[in-house]
Amino acid sequence: RKLRVGVIFGGRSGEHEVSIASATSIIEHLDPNKYEVVPIAITQEGRWLLGAAPQRLLAAETGQEGTVLSESLAVTLPGDPTVGRLVPLNQSENVGQALEAGRVDVIFPVLHGTYGEDGTLQGLLEMAGVPYVGCGVLGSALGMDKEKMKMIFQAVGLPIVDYLVYRRHDWERDPGPILEAVEARLGYPCFVKPVNLGSSVGISKAHNRKELEQAIAFAAEYDRKIIVERGIDCRELECAVLGNDEPLASVVGEIIPSNEFYDYRAKYIDNRSQIVIPADLPQETAEQVRRYAVQAFLALDLSGLARVDFFLQKASGQLYINEVNTMPGFTTISMYPKLWQASGLPYEQLLDHLIELALERHTDRQ
Ligand code: ATP
Ligand code: MG
Ligand code: MG
Ligand code: MG
Repeated sequence: RKLRVGVIFGGRSGEHEVSIASATSIIEHLDPNKYEVVPIAITQEGRWLLGAAPQRLLAAETGQEGTVLSESLAVTLPGDPTVGRLVPLNQSENVGQALEAGRVDVIFPVLHGTYGEDGTLQGLLEMAGVPYVGCGVLGSALGMDKEKMKMIFQAVGLPIVDYLVYRRHDWERDPGPILEAVEARLGYPCFVKPVNLGSSVGISKAHNRKELEQAIAFAAEYDRKIIVERGIDCRELECAVLGNDEPLASVVGEIIPSNEFYDYRAKYIDNRSQIVIPADLPQETAEQVRRYAVQAFLALDLSGLARVDFFLQKASGQLYINEVNTMPGFTTISMYPKLWQASGLPYEQLLDHLIELALERHTDRQ
């Protein structure tokens, strides 16, 4: 019997559309001789739908704003009556029903950002006792919280850029001391980010006080915690990690953003950012990146996969770890699968391996 793989995608985060793009590639490349795919969509509002294919979910959401997904979106996969039947479940009902109705052997949670990449869905899947691809509750939560992640990096001696964190509550009450503290400690340019997000959503580079004020107000629209980091003039390096207890690091890649920094536009819209694999680096720098990547993976208690992002300061040659992404972009042109491709593991086999790791981890925990 084929393994039934539930692919969960969409979701309530600012990265909803990116998730749909990732899920489309994954569904296309899961070997039909080995797997039966059960698409499980989560709308922007958080409704669970069994059997809505990625592209159609997006079309419905962008095409007719405000319309509720209808029966017509269901995909009918031959030979299985449950798949294809749309099972809308509102939030007050048990989302576990969607999993049960789909009767899956393993879940591939292809969600980026909050409510998906941050441990919330992972907790649900743990409770339901379903094996799933990727990091567990703690690792996912740490990977999504840029403040706690940095605290752990610091604790294990990984080099990070200097930063400050504020609560929206404090910002709204009295911005003055915050602006002064940022200027005194970090200076300009600095980067302002929502603590929990991804795909550069809510991130700005501030060059002066006016921009800093706007940047913090903007980030505060996305999160109740805001992180401000010293901005450094750097090359951007990324490394893919794969495994459970003995994680492996891929070759190192470089991003050359098409904008002043690697913002949402440069990532997904203008198509002019470049990816260089392998990055043109001295061998010892590449080795250091790979060592740090594995060290970060273990320190944050990650499993399955993660993409670990670095900054290489141009003037000093100092390497900093920026962050991990526990469910990185997963289209065929995304960095994570391309790094493994270049390391000798093609996309289809990468998917096989991730599913094996999910089953192995599940067994390990029992
Ligand atoms: P992802 O899509 O990788 O999850 P993210 O939303 O978590 O991204 P970051 O990777 O923290 O955000 O930052 C996005 C981009 O902003 C970086 O790739 C880089 O171009 C720029 N950037 C962020 N922080 C700094 C910094 N301290 N100094 C220089 N550039 C930075
Ligand atoms: Mg990120
Ligand atoms: Mg991310
Ligand atoms: Mg990043």
